[in-house]
Amino acid sequence: MKDRIIIVGSVALDTIQTPFGKITRGVGGSSVYSALAASFFAPAAVIGVVGEDFPDDFLKKMEKRGIKTDGIKKVPGKTFFWKGKYSWDLSTAITLDTQLNVFEKFNPSVPEDLRSSRYLFLANIDPVLQKKVLEQMASPKSAKYTALDTMNFWIESKKKKIGALLPGLDAILINEAEIRQYTGEHSIIKAAKKLLKTGVQTVVVKKGEYGVGCFSKAGMFFLPAYPLEDAVDPTGAGDSFAGAFMGYLASEGKATWANIKKAAAYGTVISSFTVSGFGVNGLLNLKKSEVIKRYGEFVRLVHFEDVKI
Ligand code: AMP
Repeated sequence: MKDRIIIVGSVALDTIQTPFGKITRGVGGSSVYSALAASFFAPAAVIGVVGEDFPDDFLKKMEKRGIKTDGIKKVPGKTFFWKGKYSWDLSTAITLDTQLNVFEKFNPSVPEDLRSSRYLFLANIDPVLQKKVLEQMASPKSAKYTALDTMNFWIESKKKKIGALLPGLDAILINEAEIRQYTGEHSIIKAAKKLLKTGVQTVVVKKGEYGVGCFSKAGMFFLPAYPLEDAVDPTGAGDSFAGAFMGYLASEGKATWANIKKAAAYGTVISSFTVSGFGVNGLLNLKKSEVIKRYGEFVRLVHFEDVKI
């Protein structure tokens, strides 16, 4: 049995507008995208909260994919709501509205049988909640691999809380604008080095359609994004990248530098499917065989030979 990945993050209803269409109150949230992406590689479990307006049948769809949802509590009130739009270049989301709703009073509780899981993904949510989940794992260091994602909203309001989590982490996944905002460095390389100094082992910088950079003591590694003719909605690309990244590492059982590179490639491939559909649709209808096929295409796309001088 592969290790189960525990994921805490937002479970949301999203209203998204892009130049290619609109979705109103569709299911989303960082932990939903991450868990769906991870489920192609390893079983996952989500810790979160939803309100009475959240569709039960969606939780059943997650269970069908091997994602445990008993850590998602349904409470009176409204589900976390995010409204965003993208302009023509689909690069950065413009947040129009964030309503924490039931997340405001949420006190996460990791079910007893999941506390000894060895993979923990602190997906994008209030760093105070991320910490509470981290503390409930059998012992924070019994987790074999702990990674964290965050965003501008939390960097603006709770930067110190994020900083306190960094030293014990195996990886932080963060986008280009956010790492600049967090470190005050314009150079991504300088910014990543600054984060490595805090003690986090690997820094993964997501650069949207320009790909991703991985940084650790072992060195640097860069990948382009998978070239897509029809990107329609980038929401959740970062979260699905992270889910696939964690899922692949959990399926391999060892976070060597070589596996981290392959995990980044799987993250790239899965997120290319995410942006091909609105909301979670690009992931919900996806088959593992399509993921494997695109991974092969991606390897061929980025491969080139050294020259003999
Ligand atoms: P991504 O496009 O990968 O950065 O993630 C988009 C998802 O993040 C959406 O489904 C939103 O519901 C969720 N989201 C937006 N703002 C926040 C926030 N402040 N905290 C947690 N999740 C958020």
